[in-house]
This record gives sequence, C-alpha cells and structure tokens, in this order.
Amino acid sequence: MREYLKKDMRLTNQRQVILEELRSVTSHPTAEEVYHMAKRRMPRISLGTVYRNLDVLAELGLVRVLEMASHQKRFDGDMRPHYHIRCQVCGRVDDIWEPLSLPLDSQSISTSYQITGYELELTGICPQCQPGVQPNLHNEKNAG
Ligand SMILES: [Zn+2]
Ligand SMILES: [Zn+2]
Repeated sequence: MREYLKKDMRLTNQRQVILEELRSVTSHPTAEEVYHMAKRRMPRISLGTVYRNLDVLAELGLVRVLEMASHQKRFDGDMRPHYHIRCQVCGRVDDIWEPLSLPLDSQSISTSYQITGYELELTGICPQCQPGVQPNLHNEKNAG
C-alpha cells in the first residue's frame, strides 16, 4: 500500500468495526442501523463518524451503497455481484443471486457514453408482507 494511502486511508479501528458489523449481516442496513450495531462494540462512536466511515469505505470499494429512489441509503458489505429486491410495503431489501438476463447489449444502446455498468433494483412484496396486503402505493381512495 502506498504511503499516502497508509496515512489517509488506513482502516482505523472504528472503520474496521463498522466494516465487520456490516459484513456480519445481510439486511442492507441504513447508516443509522450500522451506527446502532457499531455502538454495541464502541459505545462512544457517533453517528457522524459512522456516516463518514461508510463514505470512506464506499470510496475504497469495500462496501456498496444502495441508493434507492426516494429511500434512505443502505449499505451492503458483500461486494460480490448481485441484485437487490426491495419490499414495497416494509422497505426491507434482500439479495438476488441468480444472474438476470436483461436485454442489455451495450452495442445496441445508442449513447455516446462508455457504459461501465448498471444498477437494477427489483421491487416486490416480501413474505412477511404478503398475506392479504395490498400495496397501496398511491393512497388512492377507492370509491365503490
Ligand atoms: Zn415487506
Ligand atoms: Zn446485497
């Protein structure tokens, strides 16, 4: 590791704990949830420290940030390629490990961008939310 990296980007103890906690779960916690997990081991850690360290870990490529439309950022300590499915009722996020074949052939997409990847978020209703639950996404009054 290069000198400047050692100095600025070394895994501090706090950062190491945050990474370990994040890797110990598959729940894709929010920063606040990571904070509560880390706090069990480091009672004096602050929420701000957790936010900062999560940012650095993401920059270092050690954690994945799940930016889901109109939802809080969530974090994933598992860097293996996989997809996510979000429950539209309770908001939990689970992993999907099957390779999904989209009609995604970069040759056929007309853009001057150099395509380096894509984000795919599936939505659905998790097992706990399924029985008798109607996802009332639009809060529409159903008259009649
Ligand atoms: Zn659910
Ligand atoms: Zn995941």
